[in-house]
Amino acid sequence: MRDFRVGIIGATGMVGQRFATLLENHPWFHVTALAASARSAGKTYEEAIGSRWALTVPMPESMKKMPVYDAEADLDKMKELVDFVFCAVNLPKAEVKALEEMYAKAEIPVMSNNSANRGVPDVPMIVPELNPEHADVIPAQRKRLGTKRGFIAVKSNCSLQCYVPLLSPLRELYGLNKVLVCTYQAISGAGKTFERWPEMVDNLIPYIGGEEEKSEQEPMKLWGKVVDGAIVNAERPLITAQCLRVPVTDGHTAAVFASFDRKPDIEEIKKIWDSYTSIAQEAQLPSAPKKFIHYFEENDQPQIKTARDLEGGMAISAGRLRPDTQYDIKFIGMAHNTLRGAAGGAVEMAELMAVKGYLD
Ligand code: NAP
Repeated sequence: MRDFRVGIIGATGMVGQRFATLLENHPWFHVTALAASARSAGKTYEEAIGSRWALTVPMPESMKKMPVYDAEADLDKMKELVDFVFCAVNLPKAEVKALEEMYAKAEIPVMSNNSANRGVPDVPMIVPELNPEHADVIPAQRKRLGTKRGFIAVKSNCSLQCYVPLLSPLRELYGLNKVLVCTYQAISGAGKTFERWPEMVDNLIPYIGGEEEKSEQEPMKLWGKVVDGAIVNAERPLITAQCLRVPVTDGHTAAVFASFDRKPDIEEIKKIWDSYTSIAQEAQLPSAPKKFIHYFEENDQPQIKTARDLEGGMAISAGRLRPDTQYDIKFIGMAHNTLRGAAGGAVEMAELMAVKGYLD
């Protein structure tokens, strides 16, 4: 694979920091530009971050002295420096949409972590292991935007990663018709650490704004079909979700209940999860886990502390699969929210785009 010059928009944020560390030694992608708001512009990365570095791994040495650009005002500079960008910014939806379209229209492909464009039918929302074929809408999006190279691709909300990958391989086989899910979400999902959010120590907040809607609606796009250059959402299953913020640094857990048209066999499901593979594994995308789904037989697994970093934080963990009295099955899913669920998922999506030739 050729080398790509990469920019990070929102480099100073929680997800942006993850991008910086994940890309430090990436075999194909090399960070050549960092951008954030006007507040950070003109400073070095180290100065702009100040005391906000939130990861246990250190800031990449090679990026400490890199200048931070103003993502909006310095578009021309960014255009000179990068082949494509990752974007994770904390802005109102309309402003995110305008920013991402500005880059796409400047012929800079955008790999986005933001939710603003997720509902647009010709913007692919991709988990490489689940719906790589959704990239087929990119030519239609380019036509709409009037671009040759530029386009926007998004990754789905972080909460989905701990249950949708586990339901996906069962969906077509057994006819998934009803899902109830409760998610227990880490504080890094709000861009926070315990230092910056001391109220979360020994606490639980039974509400995360907008999260339940995303958890119920976004799977329908992931499970949708490409028809005439647009993604048509799936109509089933019916999903109901409750999302809670829990005092955990990283790692989202889901308690899942599911019913199917055809009653599934517990041991057969374990075999399906165990053998699940996709283009991401076959093409050996650098960020893809070698084994996507790890099932734990122990009753007290998967636990956040032992399972979240499996395969570089890119694997999906599952456990406690058993029959339920009201639904056909119930189980626990777990995934790292800022790796698989955010920056890592976007890097893997970009790797898929590179393999498919959309970043040329
Ligand atoms: P965050 O820690 O609050 O960081 C926000 C970033 O946005 C900072 O780099 C900030 O730059 C930048 N920014 C703010 N206004 C800007 C502007 N006008 N132009 C350019 N950059 C601007 O937020 P986060 O947790 O990283 O989340 C970022 C995005 O990723 C959000 O859309 C979030 O929903 C999404 N996301 C987060 C997670 C997660 O687990 N945290 C998971 C999936 C998706 P300054 O430092 O200059 O202010």
